[in-house]
Amino acid sequence: MTAANAGASAPQIRAANRLEAFAATAEFDRPTLVLDVDRVEAQYHALKSGLGRADIHYAVKANPHRAILERLIALGSHFDAASRGEIELCLSLGAKAEHISFGNTIKRAADIAWAHSAGITVFAADADEELEKIAAHAPGASVYIRLIVETSNADWPLTRKFGCDRDTALRLLDVAKDLGLTPLGFSFHVGSQTRRAEFWEPTLDEMGAIWQAARDAGHDLGLINIGGGFPAFYGEAIQAPAEYAARVMEMVEARFPGAAKIMAEPGRGLVAEAGVIACEVMLTSRKSERDVHRWVYLSIGRFSGLAETEGEAIRYEFATPHDGGPTGPCILAGPSCDSADVLYEKRPTQLPLALAAGDRVLIRNTGAYTSTYSSVCFNGFPPLDVVAI
Ligand SMILES: *Cc1c(COP(=O)(O)O)cnc(C)c1O
Repeated sequence: MTAANAGASAPQIRAANRLEAFAATAEFDRPTLVLDVDRVEAQYHALKSGLGRADIHYAVKANPHRAILERLIALGSHFDAASRGEIELCLSLGAKAEHISFGNTIKRAADIAWAHSAGITVFAADADEELEKIAAHAPGASVYIRLIVETSNADWPLTRKFGCDRDTALRLLDVAKDLGLTPLGFSFHVGSQTRRAEFWEPTLDEMGAIWQAARDAGHDLGLINIGGGFPAFYGEAIQAPAEYAARVMEMVEARFPGAAKIMAEPGRGLVAEAGVIACEVMLTSRKSERDVHRWVYLSIGRFSGLAETEGEAIRYEFATPHDGGPTGPCILAGPSCDSADVLYEKRPTQLPLALAAGDRVLIRNTGAYTSTYSSVCFNGFPPLDVVAI
């Protein structure tokens, strides 16, 4: 503590749980994500109870911390890996190759060959060229075809970059067969942070029709991979995980007859609520005497872990030592010398007027897509540190 509010009688953050209690009081010399892997475990059990016969393939990119991966391996989770690096990490911690899918639709040929030699047998594809690479470097492998989702009710939609349309997907099943691959079925992603199970319905209707078309064309499909999208709490109401997952499964079971195998790939929904970031206020200011907004500059920003504030899509909740006191609207920004490093401006955040440089701030439910999005050292600011308690 360096500035205005430092001192013996400084007010304390009111911690909501063990994780926040640690993050509120431990000494850190830089912004730090504190993880409680017991909460990952609790969330795994909740999702699993609703998902029933579906296999959980944790989307490693959400948070690859070894304590999380080790716990999930012990719980029997499977993994969705996006790269050779993620596969190597899972294998090195004891995951079995047959429990890892290579789910990125954009893979280097050399990485496909490596994964094949490491025992990975299931790959995603959404294009002819990708199937050709897989056939050449992982001959005989199993594949699923990723579809574009036309409708998304997600807070963080992923619609444009991945997947192909219905006619292309149906054709790729034939291409895969002709190349000596085993086409297992389809995958899709409803969009990340889909807050309620019923928001899945249009996507599942769309996918169910394509599933039926493939069966009518003579494809004996056995796998539907429903991707991620399971939400975390950021202040707006979400359905509880067990109930949410059970409702999704009910809708899935009604639409994909013959799906012997169902995969789900939660990322955010498994780990976001298991993490809290501890950072500090670096500066508070007003740009003019008449400015109704204060600017609050934190020690963490867009480039050091809070990338999902892009477009103000994900709105985190904050805890400060002055909560309960009078508040005012703040524009929240990161510390770097880049004008894009503003977190919330279109919709300013209400923060205590007493907040001042040196105060610790907790950013709640930040276990997903923070440490993985943190740049190595942009502008000389250290990347997000991570500790598991
Ligand atoms: C990122 C990703 C996920 C995880 O999505 P969440 O919304 O975090 O659950 C699942 N599947 C694939 C293929 C992904 O790329």
